[in-house]
Amino acid sequence: MQITRQRFIDINKYVFGGAALLYVNALFDARFIQAALLCIAAVGTYNLLRQKRVKALIRYAPIAAIVFGLTFVINVRYLQPGLIVVCGTALFSLLHIQYFSARPRIAAAVWGVPFAVTLLTYSRPLCATTPTSEWPYILLTLTLCLIPACVFASGTSSEPVPKKPRLKVVKTRIMVQTCVFMLWAWVTAIAFIKGSQVQLLFWGLFNVFTVALFPFFFGRVLCGWLCPNATMQDALLKNLHYTRPIQRIPQAIDEQTHASAMYISGHIDQNAPYMPATLLMAWFPMFFLETIYDLTGKMWYPVAFMYGLMLLSLLLPWRKLCAQFCWLSSYRGLAGHNSLWRLRFNRSKCRQCKRCAAEEACPYYIDIRNQDNEMPVTCCVCFSCMEACPFGDVITFRRAPEERQRVKAF
Ligand code: SF4
Ligand code: SF4
Ligand code: SF4
Repeated sequence: MQITRQRFIDINKYVFGGAALLYVNALFDARFIQAALLCIAAVGTYNLLRQKRVKALIRYAPIAAIVFGLTFVINVRYLQPGLIVVCGTALFSLLHIQYFSARPRIAAAVWGVPFAVTLLTYSRPLCATTPTSEWPYILLTLTLCLIPACVFASGTSSEPVPKKPRLKVVKTRIMVQTCVFMLWAWVTAIAFIKGSQVQLLFWGLFNVFTVALFPFFFGRVLCGWLCPNATMQDALLKNLHYTRPIQRIPQAIDEQTHASAMYISGHIDQNAPYMPATLLMAWFPMFFLETIYDLTGKMWYPVAFMYGLMLLSLLLPWRKLCAQFCWLSSYRGLAGHNSLWRLRFNRSKCRQCKRCAAEEACPYYIDIRNQDNEMPVTCCVCFSCMEACPFGDVITFRRAPEERQRVKAF
């Protein structure tokens, strides 16, 4: 089989979808999933019939029926640890699309990891009720690993191998993102299935580091390296091409966002248009709600919050929710205003080639070429712009000596 970029994305996203369905099924009652699936099927059928696309209906109906049928077979709260690694592997692959779609053998080898983890941990499932047979769960998890492994191992690719190797720091970021996502999925599953408080410990530590410590050193690093919703958006939502229900942000909000960024950041951020405008609109109401109802101590709250963010992200273009509405990042952005360390932009070395075009490379739509000498407070230190830039001396860790002189004089 020819492995094109699109086919690579499709296989990974369907495997992720299957694993996510099994995961959510383990967390909630199967009837909840069945009701959700029926709603999705009803809306999908209505749309297809309106467009007179009966062929598409014939193609999707059997898949929907199989998925729906599976919820009857798999209807107890039971989770194979391997399933979480399947989700992580799909996201990891999607974060390396350009590199793996050109090298299908390596992509296939990566899928050996969840396969091995499933085999090694099959006797240690998370379960509230023991099912009559454990084999459907194990077989399904192994099948989810084998499908991409076999397709990629037997396929050939005509995609060009990228000339520039991935930066080590970007590889590290993707690894950290994937591990934190899996950890989050794991503690959430423990909380739901076992009723344990462990996820509160996770969120407690998460907040201590991302509110009180990291912003002072690395600014908004949470949004580039740690947030599960960021991982989900960068890997999956960026590659889902559908008409977003909210295509454009109303101009008034856009302008308020810009004004907030200027106000918070001062001169240096004049060209950084996005700092969540909802700093005032969302931060205070959320803070009061949390305090009055003591929400942070409730087990369901952080989970519902993160799932809510993920669902809302589906309505907007890639990362627009993060750029303009997420109240979590707004106060971390504030805390990171004077962060010790930022990516440097050596303006005098920029060749204006526009390879770092904001919408392509930067999750926060920062117009890099217009920055003064370093990235603004809105930057999530993801290093995507540094990777996109073909020249090694423009976006750097250290300021170039001539730039240092210029900044000193300034
Ligand atoms: S803006 Fe909010 S949802 Fe987006 S990555 Fe940051 S914390 Fe996560
Ligand atoms: S400026 Fe560069 S490092 Fe900062 S968020 Fe944008 S792409 Fe990432
Ligand atoms: S890719 Fe690099 S050299 Fe090209 S415009 Fe962007 S910062 Fe300048």
